[in-house]
Amino acid sequence: MLTLDEAQQKLMAAIVPGEGTEHVALARGIGRYVAAPVHAVVDNPAFDNSAMDGYAAATAELLAAGGRLQLVGEASCGDAPGRLVPGTTMRIFTGAPLPIGADTVVMQEEVAREANEVRFPSIPQVGQYIRRRGEDFRAGEQLYRSGQRLRTHDLALLSAAGVVEVPVRPRPRALVVATGNELVAPGTPLRPGQIYESNRLATLLLLGAAGAEAIDGGTVRDEPAALRALLAHAADYDFIVTSGGASVGDHDLVKQVFAEIGQIDFWRVKIKPGKPVAFGKVGGKTHFFSLPGNPVSSLVTFKLFVEPAIVAWHGASYRMPLVSAVAATDFSRRDAIRMEFLRARLRQDGVHLVAEVLRGQGSHQIGTMRHTNALLRIDADVTGFRKGDTVTVMPLGESVDAA
Ligand code: AMP
Ligand code: MG
Repeated sequence: MLTLDEAQQKLMAAIVPGEGTEHVALARGIGRYVAAPVHAVVDNPAFDNSAMDGYAAATAELLAAGGRLQLVGEASCGDAPGRLVPGTTMRIFTGAPLPIGADTVVMQEEVAREANEVRFPSIPQVGQYIRRRGEDFRAGEQLYRSGQRLRTHDLALLSAAGVVEVPVRPRPRALVVATGNELVAPGTPLRPGQIYESNRLATLLLLGAAGAEAIDGGTVRDEPAALRALLAHAADYDFIVTSGGASVGDHDLVKQVFAEIGQIDFWRVKIKPGKPVAFGKVGGKTHFFSLPGNPVSSLVTFKLFVEPAIVAWHGASYRMPLVSAVAATDFSRRDAIRMEFLRARLRQDGVHLVAEVLRGQGSHQIGTMRHTNALLRIDADVTGFRKGDTVTVMPLGESVDAA
């Protein structure tokens, strides 16, 4: 059986990145991955301008005039740059173009104004409160490279840089299928032996958040023929993620059908929960994940395998988002043979993160999820830890509680 490290390496080596480029408007770029270098169209700032509301002046003239200058003119935002009349000062507002001939700006709070004369208490420094053209970035400068994922402020930056559309990777098409005779959708009464299905919704939403176009393949019964029929169109997808039917035994049907239609790269990983996870490819470019059916196993294996695979498919590099935290309580386990991921609550205590292992760690116990905002990792050979120890935690991407 592979360790998590080995399995993740195998996974990364097997990913066939998506091809092609789409050009999308900035407003549609959120969460997309950049497909080609993106350059600034304009300098930022586009022209020398004032960082303050105040007065623009030339230091040499101020010196010559003994710190008193006549007020002539005004520079407002949106004006074309004016010209300073020699021996005068000009009223200027934040963001307004610096008049030609000025080399300094003095804050309005610092001067005394009497009618049309402005008195400066001291000679200001050259360049003070001036935002220089191009000091943030220059026209033609590369702002983004392939593989970067665009966040809100990246799109705002591109807008400021005069970019209209951004080249991004197409989103991978990802089919989600749940398997199990016992599964029904909420809304219908449960008959004896039935349960409400939950993994499909979680997986669809997680895929969407990871940047994929998630497609609902519904629920199929534990019958090879049903699954076979569904997977006949496997080549239409970049990813197929199934849940359930992954354990050893008579009902490990997903692996059986998967082996018929594709190639399995690995099956079973030394982790808890999530051991029965399988990964491989169908037809060379469809990445296939068989996730275990227990809701918590399904989430953990999604985070450990599917999410990194989606990142790699986009040509980006993946790093597990691990942080250190202080354990809030002791924890011990009997068998130290598998790496384990415990559901935990991470909270902020001053500058420290504190992690509390939650009660109810059975991989069927989805109820614990309502308190969970992180997974706490225990290495394979570790039997436990004490309160106050440093532990390794993977936040699940939501906010951390205040103490
Ligand atoms: P399996 O991997 O099919 O052996 O399922 C393991 C456990 O997870 C069983 O208790 C199933 O009833 C449950 N399970 C399987 N698929 C789902 C699902 N989509 N939603 C909720 N529970 C599931
Ligand atoms: Mg099942």
